[in-house]
Amino acid sequence: MKLPFRDTYDDLFRDFSWDIPDKFNIGKAVSDDWAQREPERICLQHFDPEGKHLSFSYGELSEQSASLANGLRAIGVHPGDRVALLLPQGFETVIAHVATYKMGAIALPLALLFGAEALEYRLRIAGAKVIVTNAFGLSRLEEVRERLPALEHVVLVGDDDKAGTIAFEHLVKAHPAVFEVADTGPHDPALMIFTSGTTGPPKGALHGHRVLIGHIPGMQMAHEFLPQPGDRVWTPADWAWAGGLLNALLPGLLLGVPVVSSPAQKFDPHMAFRIMAEMKVRNAFIPPTAMRLLKVVERPRESYDLALRTIGSAGESLGRKTYEWAQTALGLTVNEFYGQTECNFVLSSMTTLGVSKAGPIGKAVPGHRVAIVSADGEVLPPGETGQVAVARPDPVMFLGYWQDDKATEAKFVGDWMLTGDQGRMDEGGYIEFLGRDDDVITSSGYRIGPAEIEDCLLGHPAVQLAAAVGKPDPVRTEIVKAYVVLAPGHVPSDGLAAELRNWVKTRLSMHEYPREIAFIDDMPLTTSGKVIRRELRQRSVLEATGS
Ligand code: ATP
Ligand code: MG
Repeated sequence: MKLPFRDTYDDLFRDFSWDIPDKFNIGKAVSDDWAQREPERICLQHFDPEGKHLSFSYGELSEQSASLANGLRAIGVHPGDRVALLLPQGFETVIAHVATYKMGAIALPLALLFGAEALEYRLRIAGAKVIVTNAFGLSRLEEVRERLPALEHVVLVGDDDKAGTIAFEHLVKAHPAVFEVADTGPHDPALMIFTSGTTGPPKGALHGHRVLIGHIPGMQMAHEFLPQPGDRVWTPADWAWAGGLLNALLPGLLLGVPVVSSPAQKFDPHMAFRIMAEMKVRNAFIPPTAMRLLKVVERPRESYDLALRTIGSAGESLGRKTYEWAQTALGLTVNEFYGQTECNFVLSSMTTLGVSKAGPIGKAVPGHRVAIVSADGEVLPPGETGQVAVARPDPVMFLGYWQDDKATEAKFVGDWMLTGDQGRMDEGGYIEFLGRDDDVITSSGYRIGPAEIEDCLLGHPAVQLAAAVGKPDPVRTEIVKAYVVLAPGHVPSDGLAAELRNWVKTRLSMHEYPREIAFIDDMPLTTSGKVIRRELRQRSVLEATGS
């Protein structure tokens, strides 16, 4: 399933083909298969702010996940049951994932940042039978537990004496470290991940064990033939998000590359650099909003001893400005890539093979057929705007939305899975992201993607984060309104707003500039760090009606 070594992208694309085995189990592949060969090999290194970093081996992972699988079976978990994982980055989280896959149960990762309501929604829809969490997660859960009749057990990490819970440690210690892994095929369900909920209610995307195999070419592209000697993967993103789990943790484990874990916290740029320096991170996955927040650290290369070889970024548009900033400030060209929970990691850049441009995302990852199609599934020629679409079958493609065949069906036109994102392909096969369907602004007959406006604003030294939305307007249908978070040391003023309007007006076409600018202290972000433009759009409507 690995990419062949080739000197050009075209050769790489042409010479790669999938080799999906008849039997495949994620849990076995990321633990036992390594443990049999090299039990001492390091799979995880945990960053401790006090400097007491811990290392864990594949041997430990293999045994402890076997014990936990036996323990989960003993409390009544069967293949196909949903096991919710509400945990921060850490070794127990990996053990719980691996145990779930080994049993043939379905892992349901949940972010600790979720409020009680968000948590209840996902647990209820998924019908989770067991949840593995920590004291913090338990405090959230207590508010909603009685409304979740399907939830039979709470397994608690780090606290062994709490009423109504089963201690994780006890479950591991009390059961044998040998477990016969479920005889799963690649298309058997392994994982349910809810989408980020950026545009509406989050949907549970169900994936087969094959999903991990499907991620390897993309990982190898964005991280320049990962694994190379000394490689070490880290992401500040929550492992509960498709990005954190499938663009960092699981591929790292599968490829035998140590993964660095770090405690949950609000993203802190100084801490991020500290983690990368102290843990000698070589391959970072840093989503665009986090990349933009890194800019507050001046001269990072002088202040931190960085060992970075590759940086990948995805989840939102990276944009030219952030791409160029990283080249100057970090001395590295970020490889942007693209995917969604339903069908992840299908486009990427790969700088060493010359696939990299400021602006567009990149090209199709070997093994995936990606095109720009019209609403009725017609493939559009280069230069035309349409839906970014992926052809089935594809191992990264979801099996379907959980118990929602209608929504699953609506995602396809023929064999094309529509992403709901607008894009354009150039003659060279680069795909440019214009915006999500719902985020595209209609003004005076023009269709305007927010990405370009936001990127332009980010080029102004006073701007740290920017989001452009369409505000309803009686004459123009919508006008472009930009919400701006200022960089440290800058204060809002009418003068600055006028300057920013002019900044865009003179750089992009006349119809694209934001007629209104609002300064805000915090950008509304999903737990995966994505701008929720829907919320800003609603805010702009309220402002327009004066309520
Ligand atoms: P929901 O579907 O619930 O609204 P979501 O789409 O944000 O949530 P994810 O599946 O985590 O949830 O995100 C996938 C989406 O993120 C893509 O469809 C696309 O809109 C955006 N995205 C991912 N990578 C990029 C990128 N490189 N450039 C621009 N947008 C990206
Ligand atoms: Mg989506």
